[in-house]
Parts: sequence; structure tokens; C-alpha cells
Amino acid sequence: MGLRFAADVRTLIWVALAAALLAAQFARPELAPYLFWLSMYFALACGVIAHNHNHCPTFKDKRANEIFGHVISVFYGYPTFAWIPTHNLNHHKFVNRAGDATITWRHSKKNNLWVLVTYPIVSSYYQSEPISAFIKQAKQKNRKLYRRIQIQYAVWAGSHALLLALAIGLHGTLQGLILWSLTCLAPALFALWTIMVFNYVQHIHTDPWSKYDHSRSFVGAWTNFFLFNNGLHYAHHENAGAHWTKLPEIHARSAARIDPRLLHQSMWWYFIRQYLLAPFVPALGTTQVGRAAYDAVEAEQVATADIGFGEEGTNEAILRA
Ligand SMILES: [Zn+2]
Repeated sequence: MGLRFAADVRTLIWVALAAALLAAQFARPELAPYLFWLSMYFALACGVIAHNHNHCPTFKDKRANEIFGHVISVFYGYPTFAWIPTHNLNHHKFVNRAGDATITWRHSKKNNLWVLVTYPIVSSYYQSEPISAFIKQAKQKNRKLYRRIQIQYAVWAGSHALLLALAIGLHGTLQGLILWSLTCLAPALFALWTIMVFNYVQHIHTDPWSKYDHSRSFVGAWTNFFLFNNGLHYAHHENAGAHWTKLPEIHARSAARIDPRLLHQSMWWYFIRQYLLAPFVPALGTTQVGRAAYDAVEAEQVATADIGFGEEGTNEAILRA
């Protein structure tokens, strides 16, 4: 049941910390108002870990990977199979062009706070379609996978129901409900919302047809330490199967060729500059780099997502029944 990469000891420590934090707040609910923001960070970290795990499984053993997927789904807030139809088979294939369920330009081509904040709601709605199609296909063509999807939903929903029951059992209805909301519900919603926000900022105003400018990257050391190198998005799209520890190396090889407008040191500063300052000083805002994702190109334009099995970018370890 060993790790495929020794560096994932840190992944395991982060998940253990998320669990310890939850246990501490369940034991001492008076701490929750002070600690729940930490739970939010660890839930987000579990979302990033889920993304990593889905592209590059953490353990050598298949069963261990499945169990690990269950654990992080409780913190992150959704069964991990959903990454396959909306991300591996879809986003990595279309990279913000037509056909990508997570396009950043569906209702507006602008990069402002309103579009950013509402993007996860719009994106979730359009992701539900490929998720349903994937489940339907699994039901018809791959019963083993279908069973695993059902188990993932059952573990995820069952765990939250149990945690809610435990919180109420330990601390009474109102206190328990508040405790569960602060330590389980809010962090999971925050993680799902923020993961989609990351997708938005990493692709808005980029050029999906370009070899080097298809993604926006955040190169700061702190951002990448706390987010397992998730800031290095160019490198991730260059080699989606690469382990997160390899991304700095992949980024460094091509960094000089990436348009500097797509390289940001700090994610925090990007958020402040783009969404708080740029509305007043437009020169501080992002501009389209190269060809926009929505520029129609006859031969390359793809009308609908073609969700199938065994396509490029698929995590074989997960799809293999
Ligand atoms: Zn990815």
C-alpha cells in the first residue's frame, strides 16, 4: 500500500491535519468560531489533493487509492469520480474552448468580481450535464465503475449525515447544526467554490491555441507551498499526468516563452489588483493574450463535448474496472 511518490507524505499529513482539526472542533465546539477558517483552508487543500490524486494516483495500490478518494471527498465536498467527465475528459481536452463545460466566457467575456463570484454557480450547472452523461454511460457499459460511483456517493453523503448526527448527538440540535455547518458544510462549499474560481482565473484571457499561453500561472513560493504547486497551471496542462512535485521543473523549462502577462507572483495580489483596484484603474486589469478561447475557427471549433471512455487525458487507474 505504499506511496508512489515519497513527497506525498505531506499530502497525507495535510489530510490528517484536516481530520484532526475536525475532531478538535467536535470535541470543543467553542473553538469552532476561531478554527473554522483553518478548516476551510484544509478543505480547499483536500480539493487540490483530489485534483492531484485524480491525475496521478497517490498510492501504488488501487484499493488504497479508492479509500483515499473517499476520505478526501468528505472534506472537499464531492465524490472524486466527478473530476473525470468534467476535468480530465473535458477541460483538459478543450482548454476553455467551446465544448469545455467549465468555460470562463459563457455569459460574459469580462474578468471582474461579479463574473468571478457567479462563475462557480454557472460552471456547476453546466458540469452537471457531463457528470450525468458519464454516470449513464458507466451504467450501460461499465457496471463495475457504476458501482464505484454509487459507493462514492454513498460514502460522501453518508459521512456527512453521520457527522451531522454526531454533532447533534454530542451538542444538541442547534449547537450541533451550527457546529456541522461551520466545520463540514461551509469548508466543503468553500473548497468547491474556490477550486472553480481557480479554474476561472487560470484561464480567463488566455490563448488556448497557444503552446505557451494557454494558462495563467501563479509562481510565488507560498502560493505553491500551500496549494501543492497548483499555481503552476501552464506546467499542469503541459503534462497533466505529472506529479505535483515535478511542476516547478516543467514550468522552469518554458517560463521564458510564456507571455509575462500570464505569470503572477502572488495570487492574493492578483485578486486585489484585478477585482478591487482594476474597476477603478482599468490599466491594472488583465487583457486578452493572443487568440481568445471564443474566437471561432472553423476546423477547430468543436460544438459539443464528446465524453467517452479511454480518451487521452483519462486517468486509466480510475477508469479501469
Ligand atoms: Zn487538471
